[in-house]
Amino acid sequence: MTLSIVGLGLIGGSIARDARACGVATHIVGYDARPEHTSQALELGLIDSAVDLPTAAAADLVVLAVPVDALTQLLPEVLNIAGPDSTLTDVGSTKAAVCAAVAQHPWRAQFVAAHPMAGTERSGPSAALQGLFQHKAVIVCEAERSNPAAIARVEALYTALGAHIVHLAPDEHDEHVAYVSHLSHAISYALAVTVLEKEKSASTLLDLASGGFASTARLAKSHAAMWTPIFLQNATHLLPTLAAYRRELDRLIAAIAAADAPAVDAYIGQANAIRRVLNGKA
Ligand code: NAP
Repeated sequence: MTLSIVGLGLIGGSIARDARACGVATHIVGYDARPEHTSQALELGLIDSAVDLPTAAAADLVVLAVPVDALTQLLPEVLNIAGPDSTLTDVGSTKAAVCAAVAQHPWRAQFVAAHPMAGTERSGPSAALQGLFQHKAVIVCEAERSNPAAIARVEALYTALGAHIVHLAPDEHDEHVAYVSHLSHAISYALAVTVLEKEKSASTLLDLASGGFASTARLAKSHAAMWTPIFLQNATHLLPTLAAYRRELDRLIAAIAAADAPAVDAYIGQANAIRRVLNGKA
């Protein structure tokens, strides 16, 4: 199978790296709008050759791994020029806008809307990680609108990379990821800005920062080119999620302001239930 990756960053590069390692693709080609990223992907051995967009669109399996604003533009264009036997899939963090971009497209069935639930705060080909998708979920949306051969091809890729498939409707996907992914990024940005505003001197910050701060603020290193379009495309679900978060913050503020120790204890106890979710035990 020939595989082409459009957008040779963290996610596209990681797919290429593992697809080669597990032998699921015989030949991997790549296209990126930024020439340095194409050269780096070649140097790192992520792809066998750099190609233009029409050549990338003719591969057996085409993975679109660009930010979601570029994705909604590029997807119909690539579907227009894709080979009749090509399958297209995306990795975008939003699904309703992506599915809407090709809802009426005559070759919609060649497209599989997907979102691998794996990543880091880094970007570009040098951020590509081996084993990124191992034991992770890949959400496939509107599978009923894709042809069975296209679904089989995409699922075979992710299964070979060690991931498992979960099916959701686009809107359900967007609501879930607003809670489990987009909210934590938004909070992390707000946390970083709050602390940076107070601690103007980076050296003081570094001196005092604990591991807890570093792990909570890690997501704030994620770049705007990827996250601004995600926040805007998923505003319908993200805004109520942020409002729910603000209500929780107000509840904690009220308990602290009233010096109500039992209420603060109870709040923290309620939050500690997250251990069950994250560790799989109480
Ligand atoms: P990334 O590391 O920034 O890689 C994206 C690459 O695509 C960059 O090289 C970028 O170049 C290039 N690009 C931008 N517009 C393009 C266009 N029109 N044509 C061709 N190439 C273009 O980003 P990423 O983290 O891999 O994210 C890619 C996709 O994966 C996004 O849709 C994101 O929502 C999704 N995703 C990300 C994560 C995560 O944790 N990072 C997890 C799951 C899914 P420039 O740098 O010049 O823009």
